[in-house]
Amino acid sequence: MSDTQDMREMIVAREKTIVKTSIIGIITNIFLAAFKAAVGLLSNSIAIILDAVNNLSDALSSVITIIGAKLAGKLPDKKHPLGYGRVEYLSSMLVSALVLYAGITALVESIKKIIHPETAHYSVLTLVILVVAIGVKLVLGKYVTTKGKQVNSGALVASGSDASFDAILSASVLASALLYLWCHISLEAYVGVAISLVIIKAGIGMLKDTMNDI
Ligand SMILES: [Zn+2]
Repeated sequence: MSDTQDMREMIVAREKTIVKTSIIGIITNIFLAAFKAAVGLLSNSIAIILDAVNNLSDALSSVITIIGAKLAGKLPDKKHPLGYGRVEYLSSMLVSALVLYAGITALVESIKKIIHPETAHYSVLTLVILVVAIGVKLVLGKYVTTKGKQVNSGALVASGSDASFDAILSASVLASALLYLWCHISLEAYVGVAISLVIIKAGIGMLKDTMNDI
């Protein structure tokens, strides 16, 4: 077997891992977004609705990761035996831009709610779904980061740290719900602003990391 064939097989195996991991991320995030959107709308909670939107943007990010991996896997030739890494850098850039966009949108929506406050009505189901969602995101984050490091995929590692990070965001949403239930203090919209700023910061960080790789 020639070195070129070995290289080719390595690239195909890497692509398969990236695609499989990303599909798991897409399915998980669509489920999380659906449950959160449902309880967010039922509870009239801007923080939970934003959390759902954030999960949807994560699913979209994973779609872009797959496209990047597919393109990079198809292109290797004699001149570029490792394929066009820059296609994957581009997909990492798109993932970062999406996170930034989600953050800015979330910020605008949260500020609107500070100006025009609304009362949320949390149920036990709301709290249970938030707790389960936090656990699921933590497990997903660990899994995706591990796979990303295994195959040296910047897009996967970025997606994995984003998932771990989102678990912290969901925890602050849960904390604000409990604070409201116990003390009748609503920090929903402010938590929304804080979440938005942290998402924006994460997006900028991912963008910087991607550019450093080039
Ligand atoms: Zn996210």
